[in-house]
Amino acid sequence: MLQGKVAVVTGSTSGIGLGIAKALAYQSCDIMLNGFGKPLEIEAIRSGLEAEFGGQVGYCDADLSKPEEVRRLIGETEAQLGRVDILVNNAGIQHTEAIEDFPDDRWEAIVAINLSAVFYATKAALPGMKRRDWGRIINIASAHGLVASPFKAAYVAAKHGVVGLTKVTALETAELPVTCNAICPGWVRTPLVEKQIEALAADKGLSIEDAARELLGAKQPSKGFVSPEQLGQLVVHLCLPASEQITGSALSMDGGWTAQ
Ligand code: NAD
Repeated sequence: MLQGKVAVVTGSTSGIGLGIAKALAYQSCDIMLNGFGKPLEIEAIRSGLEAEFGGQVGYCDADLSKPEEVRRLIGETEAQLGRVDILVNNAGIQHTEAIEDFPDDRWEAIVAINLSAVFYATKAALPGMKRRDWGRIINIASAHGLVASPFKAAYVAAKHGVVGLTKVTALETAELPVTCNAICPGWVRTPLVEKQIEALAADKGLSIEDAARELLGAKQPSKGFVSPEQLGQLVVHLCLPASEQITGSALSMDGGWTAQ
């Protein structure tokens, strides 16, 4: 049912974004990839998706910490692939430190990439969605968009902001065939979390696997990681007609984290 739809997935050279891009490519969407990485590895991902699923797959190296670059990503997608039907705002970074020691530049970067880029991309993509009378905006927030943890001031503030922005976008498009939802994952074992596992292992003198178990045990009652593939399937579901009345929601996939 999504054949020929054009999807932009920000931060899709790694982790959750790549899982979402694959799930949408499997549904025969054309995809614009974005994110950082080694050019040869990114080209292998791009050409691999095209060869495996048959749709068009582009790549844009826009640095989403800058508003004009976010606009370039949407503009290049419209120029290369014709339009933006599905916008998945996924790119994100993390930094953990107590507020009084939290570096100003980390605060600015996290707010710019994790929150402001969602606003700029939505602003740039919405006019085309409204014109064509169809659109899906899916913002990858976090369990930290709903509850807090210490030492994550910028991340928690930005992700709560994403959940708020999702609600406003949904209300402004409520009478149109355009929906906007947030997905709030718990722990997913991607490079972003691997860094936190390594820091915990070093701090407590644990093996990497013991540190991973401790990280999960502290927050996620299921004691299992969410996978990028599972998140990809939820994104697909939100794009299908069955989901046309789901808008303004913050959908948790967190092994029970926020049920506590
Ligand atoms: P990741 O580090 O594996 O991937 C992040 C992606 O964002 C990469 O493709 C990276 O190149 C890209 N990126 C980073 N800075 C960028 C910039 N300035 N411009 C463009 N692209 C940029 O991380 P992930 O775990 O896959 O995280 C993806 C999203 O999911 C983030 O928004 C994160 O906050 C959220 N999330 C992750 C978890 C988790 O446990 N991993 C849990 C909840 C939410």
